Amino acid sequence: MKALAVDLGGSHAACAVVADREVAAEETVSLEAAGGLGEALSPIAAALRRVAGRAGIAVRDCRGLAFGFCGLVDPDAGRVLSTNAKYDDAPGLDLASWARRELGVPLRIENDARLALLGERHAGAARGCDDVVMMTLGTGIGGAAMVGGRLLRGRHFQAGVLGGHLVADFEGRPCTCGGVGCVEAEASTWALGAVCRETPGFEASALAREARLGFEAVFARAEEGDRVARAVRERCLRVWAAGAVSMVHAWDPERLVVGGGVMRSAALVLPAIEAHVHRHAWTPWGKVDVRAATLGERAALLGAVPLLEGA
Ligand SMILES: [Zn+2]
Repeated sequence: MKALAVDLGGSHAACAVVADREVAAEETVSLEAAGGLGEALSPIAAALRRVAGRAGIAVRDCRGLAFGFCGLVDPDAGRVLSTNAKYDDAPGLDLASWARRELGVPLRIENDARLALLGERHAGAARGCDDVVMMTLGTGIGGAAMVGGRLLRGRHFQAGVLGGHLVADFEGRPCTCGGVGCVEAEASTWALGAVCRETPGFEASALAREARLGFEAVFARAEEGDRVARAVRERCLRVWAAGAVSMVHAWDPERLVVGGGVMRSAALVLPAIEAHVHRHAWTPWGKVDVRAATLGERAALLGAVPLLEGA
């Protein structure tokens, strides 16, 4: 099956044409200048036509357009339900009509983390697995869950995807979602600057001289022996591991797939999460198989085929 796919990120959209388990062609459209999703739709449609042309696939031969969105969506109605500080105009847009009009194909929208889980199950680290949870560690923290081969969506389309908003510290930092001490508020890239600055000794730390406080800088300074960087690294690893245990307890998976930008340091992050899950999760049946995602930023694009097949 051939399909069009869009994975909408914070400042860009990955646009692709997918054939079964391969990305046939893709292009990244910068949306820095776009005032909202409405303004981004024309450049996205143009990019989809270009990638289809490059792949030698007619747009009309595609089953549809799978659209990954970083918020809560209603896949049946083809609408965005709720955003989190990005593309706040999206709930007012009729994306299904836009896709029919501009591309002549049906559109199915899905939360980006669910789409990434579908992709990893179709072509990556979750192949052959019917009970699987995915956790993505990056700018935000995403989650998605499949139980008995069915993607969890829930009554209000929130099931499984709020793993980043499981509470890691009920006396912790305020989160963008309205909660307090969410995994995402305690250990995501957007929270990392505050986490570092609030760690005792920060001013004297090598981290105080970093232009941009990302996890790569924290891990590098920790490796060099900086005490504050080590404290931040250890705390974030524990927050992620605690979140992973909660997701295992919530969804009873046989496998946990961990992805996202932080997994560029998988050699550090994955064993820490795995050891904590194996030690602390209540799984009398055995041990959850903890694995790194294998598709990287293409995971959500490769979820297009299973999504359009009705997943
Ligand atoms: Zn939250």
